[in-house]
Amino acid sequence: MKTAEIMANLQAKHPGENEYLQAVQEVLESIEEVYNQHPEFEKAKIVERMVEPDRIFTFRVTWVDDKGDVQTNLGYRIQFNSAIGPYKGGLRFHKAVVPSMLKFLGFEQTFKNALTTLPMGGAKGGSDFDPVGKSNDEIMRFCQAFMTELWNCIGPDQDIPAGDVGVGGREIGYMYGMYKKLAREYNTGVLTGKGATWGGSILRPEATGFGALYFTEHLLKKAGKDIKDKTVALSGFGNVAWGAATKAKELGAKVVAISGPDGVCEIPDGITDEMIDYMLDMRASNRNKVEDMATKFPGKAKFTAGKKAWSVKCDIALPCAFQNELSEDDAKELKANGCWCCCEVSNMGCQPGAIHFFQHNGVLFAPGKAVNAGGVATSGLEMTQNASHISWSAKEVDDKLHFIMESIHEQCVKYGTQPDGTIDYVKGANIAGFMKVATAMLEQGII
Ligand code: GLU
Repeated sequence: MKTAEIMANLQAKHPGENEYLQAVQEVLESIEEVYNQHPEFEKAKIVERMVEPDRIFTFRVTWVDDKGDVQTNLGYRIQFNSAIGPYKGGLRFHKAVVPSMLKFLGFEQTFKNALTTLPMGGAKGGSDFDPVGKSNDEIMRFCQAFMTELWNCIGPDQDIPAGDVGVGGREIGYMYGMYKKLAREYNTGVLTGKGATWGGSILRPEATGFGALYFTEHLLKKAGKDIKDKTVALSGFGNVAWGAATKAKELGAKVVAISGPDGVCEIPDGITDEMIDYMLDMRASNRNKVEDMATKFPGKAKFTAGKKAWSVKCDIALPCAFQNELSEDDAKELKANGCWCCCEVSNMGCQPGAIHFFQHNGVLFAPGKAVNAGGVATSGLEMTQNASHISWSAKEVDDKLHFIMESIHEQCVKYGTQPDGTIDYVKGANIAGFMKVATAMLEQGII
């Protein structure tokens, strides 16, 4: 395999799909050496097949807003790879959603899901619907309209969507209601992230953030460090940031910054439980403004417009918001302010220049597909509970999540340990995920 050649072909075939091309490039670069040791992969053209989704559904979603005006959005479901299990991955509702974004996310999901130890293939979907400023009724009508198109592309053993940016428990509830009405079956396992009283797994809402912190603990332990009393800056204030802030505080760290598209909130004395609870209200309001935290807690949280969380002095940076949210300049600013660890919680949260800078300047770095895999892993646990018609206790789920995050860390160490003894977590995660998917594809023949 020659990465440059494959990338040139993909660029010609998919011009302008920058996020997708970026995600593929990162993976191919790190697996090239291992791939070339396996002529059977080359013969079966594993990479050429793996970089293209199995299929993409595109559909029109028409709904009526509160003023009575008709609105039309585009909906998508990208079934990327089903070598190791049914298609699995979230739905993103965001105004910037385009096929390139969902293709990058579906590609990443394939490797991430492989790391979880559970049998799940990769998928992603969503819409360019913008939840900001929408009423609850509008959200419901949109979710129902979206599901009228999606429902016959999915199924508990076929494709199992879940939440992502702009899609949380409320949206999953509205979509499940419409699915059930259309399918006339209580297929509990067709969506994950459901409410706890109707098939949702305990701890699923917390799982991405909790899992990220469990992974961070392992990474720090391996480096001879500890999270207690360390300062943490995180971006976002949605579901993932909320779970990460909750667990970081519980483990004795001090969360000194959260951020939003409008700016950053500095919290010099560390985030409190009341502030963490308020993050849920901020998300539910659909205002998308982190400034609301400073308004609610004057004197404790200080808002600065237009600044990122990466301008705040911290030991550990946790990007929890959106792809490419941390640039090379941000990485330099973090390092100059004393930051020595960055665990990427958002999918592809760091730009390639930032990752390169961290890795060459002594900043511990781990990629999103390893760090944030606790979310989809707990979705996998939800599927298991649904399939066997039971529900596990919080302790049972948390113990399993711990085990999974530890195992993901071990896989990164196994495949990412360099001759000088340092660990390249990007390489480790990519090679571990790739080997599992590639082996399954090989064994299933040319399809
Ligand atoms: N959207 C989440 C992710 O990026 C969760 C997906 C799921 O639970 O299926 O992994």
